[in-house]
Amino acid sequence: MAEISLVLGDITEQRVDAVVNAANSSLMGGGGVDGAIHRKGGPEILAECRELRASRYAGGLPTGQAVATTAGRLPARWVIHTVGPVYARSEDRSHLLASCYRESLRVADELGAKSVAFPAISTGIYGWPLDDGARIAVETVRETPAEVAEIRFVLFDTTAYAHFGRALSGSTS
Ligand code: ADP
Repeated sequence: MAEISLVLGDITEQRVDAVVNAANSSLMGGGGVDGAIHRKGGPEILAECRELRASRYAGGLPTGQAVATTAGRLPARWVIHTVGPVYARSEDRSHLLASCYRESLRVADELGAKSVAFPAISTGIYGWPLDDGARIAVETVRETPAEVAEIRFVLFDTTAYAHFGRALSGSTS
């Protein structure tokens, strides 16, 4: 079973085999984690994303799926792009958020990645409440069988870090 750790920091600075990007379905970049990854990783990442759009994902990468590219100039080997669901009160989309973590680990295994860094998918621009987003993240990676040895959640601020800490220790308050 993979070792799970929490880091307060910037996902673009992680020395791991693969960093996961909270992308959008266009794969053409955006704000938040996505913007930071493309800015720091450089144009090679976008070039591969364009190829993926032209070949496998003409209609965009569907929500809950994941696909890998080079990590360009980032200190990682690969970026795994996954599209989180936009939070909606009116509809339970938890299975799609869980699918992002599961599919990213499946792609990591295919690549032979031993260490993977995840951001808190969907909890920024896509509006997912942090307590629930953290719970789904931790539960899903714990339940997913994978060859990956290290799973690192990289949280950008102390609030997110605290929510993931509680989810990891199993406390609900
Ligand atoms: P989404 O569109 O899936 O909500 P965002 O990138 O807007 O994705 O936000 C996802 C989470 O990542 C948020 O909790 C946000 O605070 C955090 N975040 C933003 N930039 C970074 C970064 N450079 N490294 C790690 N986490 C980040």
